[in-house]
Amino acid sequence: MTARILVVDDVPANVKLLEARLSAEYFDVMTASNGTEALAICARAECDIILLDVMMPDMDGFEVCRRLKTDPATHHIPVVMVTALDSPADRNRGLEAGADDFLTKPVSDVVLIARVRSLTRLKMMTDELRMRAITSLEIGMQAPERSAIADAGKGGRILLVDDRQSSYERLATILAAEHTVDVEPNPTEALFHAAEGNYDLLIVSLDLNNFDGLRLCSQARSLERTRHVPILAIAEAENSTRLLRGLEIGVNDYLLRPIDKTELLARARTQIRRRRYTDHLRDNVQNSIEMAITDALTGLHNRRYMESHLATLAEQASTRGKPLALMILDIDYFKSINDNYGHDAGDDVLREFAVRVRKSIRGIDLACRYGGEEFVIVMPETDLHVAGMVAERLRRSIAGEPFAVHKGTKRIEVTISIGLTTLEQKGEAVADVLKRADTALYRAKHDGRNRVVSQAA
Ligand code: GH3
Ligand code: MG
Ligand code: MG
Repeated sequence: MTARILVVDDVPANVKLLEARLSAEYFDVMTASNGTEALAICARAECDIILLDVMMPDMDGFEVCRRLKTDPATHHIPVVMVTALDSPADRNRGLEAGADDFLTKPVSDVVLIARVRSLTRLKMMTDELRMRAITSLEIGMQAPERSAIADAGKGGRILLVDDRQSSYERLATILAAEHTVDVEPNPTEALFHAAEGNYDLLIVSLDLNNFDGLRLCSQARSLERTRHVPILAIAEAENSTRLLRGLEIGVNDYLLRPIDKTELLARARTQIRRRRYTDHLRDNVQNSIEMAITDALTGLHNRRYMESHLATLAEQASTRGKPLALMILDIDYFKSINDNYGHDAGDDVLREFAVRVRKSIRGIDLACRYGGEEFVIVMPETDLHVAGMVAERLRRSIAGEPFAVHKGTKRIEVTISIGLTTLEQKGEAVADVLKRADTALYRAKHDGRNRVVSQAA
């Protein structure tokens, strides 16, 4: 995990100091002495994390940060503001500009390294997701960056785990101005509560009575349902060992008591915004996986998916000594449906056909659109006799009820022909099974259509 850290500071001595400390921990360090230079480096995607000085001539750190965070190309790069100023007002200005974190000069070594490590992990994960989500961009999905930049980070669902009434009442009141807040005063219930609630943020007090808040954080990290929910820890005082431990096990950010209202809100917004962004990326990845195996018109699997999956099903069937049935279905005179009613009507028929197919088969059966108006259904653990009954039921469900086209204004009769076969018991090449089903289909067409023809293995 060699992250490239960009250190930006107009004072060469400060640059050298941070460079030395980070290099000692085997990070790759790049440097810049002003905002313009820093922006250029980021635009070339050469760094993973930026440590950004606030007070610089020409363009100050707030402005640099704001520009990075509003540009889709650099928005995902974590920015840590480094400053001699330490008033809540300054911290909040940085957080408002979109900074991911804040370090105060003189920067403590442990805190610096822990922060950089935890942001590195985050950056690596985001990069991985972005890379995979690129595929979905290519097929025309909206860029997650655009909505992330527009997201104010409000309206989140927060679970606050804190057992001190005076504390949680105050925090909940502050947060409720921008979010929906649930309070869980019982730490032993907190994990269940978090897993069930679909939260955007967990805020966990580390000063619970008779309960280790860090344990809760670590459990939340390992549980599937809460793994991706950001955690903001709240601690009584600078106990750096515990806080560092927290950052190591996956706590995303922390605040020290007494809690500054504006800073709490700003940090909560940052976490919620980031959570939505990575969720969005994750959804895109999921969608592109689904798109790659799904036929867009009918929602059935596509041919590519069927071909790879059929081989697996055939192998399973022969090793387990179970039957496997396969049928090819072809709509009769489909060309004339297009010719007589238009291509859109043809599409309506294909969609409705897929709906009826789904109703007639079991969850473990595999249905796919094999080509234009040709479909394949594979049925595990089904012999020729049973498959014949399914095929006949399917044929009747098509021929028995006319298809509505042109938004229901017209109804047309549709029939299908089906060729059916099974896998040879001793196992056989998938291509041969398909070929036998195709021969059966050809006979069904030849014999007058609207019928099922079975061909034993
Ligand atoms: P047969 O009974 O012998 O199967 O006759 P057919 O007309 O169904 O068969 P043929 O293979 O000659 O024609 C299939 C038609 O399906 C031709 C093609 O334009 C049409 N087709 C293929 N894909 C689509 C599609 O996605 N939408 C529409 N509307 N038509 C399609
Ligand atoms: Mg046809
Ligand atoms: Mg055809």
